[in-house]
Parts: sequence; structure tokens; C-alpha cells
Amino acid sequence: MIELSPAERLAAVRGTITRAARLAGRPPDDVTLIAVSKTHGAEAILPLILAGQRIFGENRVQEAEAKWPELKARHSDIELHLIGRLQSNKAEDAVALFEAIHSVDRPSLVDALARAMTKLERRRDCFIQVNIGDEAQKGGCPVADLPALLDRAAKVGLSVAGLMCLPPEGVESAPYFALLAELARRHGLDGLSMGMSGDYDSAVTIGATHVRVGTALFGERRSAPAS
Ligand SMILES: *Cc1c(COP(=O)(O)O)cnc(C)c1O
Repeated sequence: MIELSPAERLAAVRGTITRAARLAGRPPDDVTLIAVSKTHGAEAILPLILAGQRIFGENRVQEAEAKWPELKARHSDIELHLIGRLQSNKAEDAVALFEAIHSVDRPSLVDALARAMTKLERRRDCFIQVNIGDEAQKGGCPVADLPALLDRAAKVGLSVAGLMCLPPEGVESAPYFALLAELARRHGLDGLSMGMSGDYDSAVTIGATHVRVGTALFGERRSAPAS
């Protein structure tokens, strides 16, 4: 089998997004591709930057702090998205480095992020992560608590761009994507961060505005960090 180059992988993923969007009657430009570079070093990331990718996702603040400041200094138009669990005591570090945070899932974190953005005078796009499959081991706000969490965000001045989810593994994702889309509609939110390497085409068909794709762009991860 012929190994694809990073640029070819990027073109293939972009092609799939374009086809899925057209199929759903959506403009392909409405879908933002987040290249999930967790566990990968600069040598794997640079070819994608050179191929034109500018938006990257990481799931750990510390790991991102170790590799991104230098890359961002050289390519000033890069946007970093935090997609993994965030401790409240790291909120300021996250606001300093990331342009968007997809894993806001509890009142204490809403408060900490609002405070950090005020203090650093920066606004970041925030997505509320919803525990869409009601799984005990997963992060995310329980579906039933979403209205209260959105109220809290409004009260402390944290603007919410949309909802994010990680559906249960090993089953069809589409029903969970549809539920997340319905919740967003109900609350008047435009952003939908959903879809990974195995299911981003289906997520786009159902309305994803942000897909988080790692393996399909970078190949297998070097280790499997908890997300
Ligand atoms: C790792 C990760 C992804 C990317 O997963 P792939 O299957 O490699 O595309 C997407 N979202 C989150 C939250 C992740 O932790």
C-alpha cells in the first residue's frame, strides 16, 4: 500500500468534508477542520502547516505549552483549540494559549474562564461539552444540567459559541450528533463541535460546524493520552 503524505491526507479529509457538506446542502466553508495534533511533535505538525492547515487541537494544556508557543511565533495566523478536560486552576493558562475551548462542562469552570478572560482581556470561543451518551466515565455536562450551565455562563458574561460532544464508542454516532444538534437549536446556539476521524462525514451531514480530526491526518498516535 502507498503511504499518503500529510498534504495528501489533508486534501482527502477536506474533500470528504466538502462532499458531506454539499450532500447536506451546506456551504463547505461553514465547517472548520480542527487538526488534532495531541501526542505529535513539531516534525509531524509542520508539514500540515506548510500544506495550509492553520487550526489545530490539543487535549492537554501542558503538552500544548511545550510545543505550540514556538510554532505560533513562526506562524502568527495559527489558531489553537483546547478539546480535552480542563482543570479550573489551569483556566488562565488555557485562555493565554488557546483561541477556543471546547470542553467547558461545569459551573466552576465557567466562572474560572470568565475571570481569566477578564483578567487577561481576551475573549475566547467557548463550547459547552455535553455528556451526550450519559456515560459515567466521560467528561461533559449532563444533558439535564445544560440549561442551568448556559444560564450561569450568561450571568458571568461567558459567551458560548456552541455545544461539543464525544459520543459513546462502538455504536453509531449519528443519533448522538442529531441530539446535540437539537439541543443547540433549542438554545439558539450556532456552533456544533462534533465528529472525529471515524465519523466526521456523518457529523458534517448532521450540521457540525467544527470537526476534530486526528488519526486521519496524522496516522496513529504515539501514545493514547486520556481525553
Ligand atoms: C483525540 C480526540 C479527537 C481526535 O480523534 P481521532 O479519532 O484521532 O480523529 C477528537 N476529539 C477529542 C475530544 C479528542 O480527544
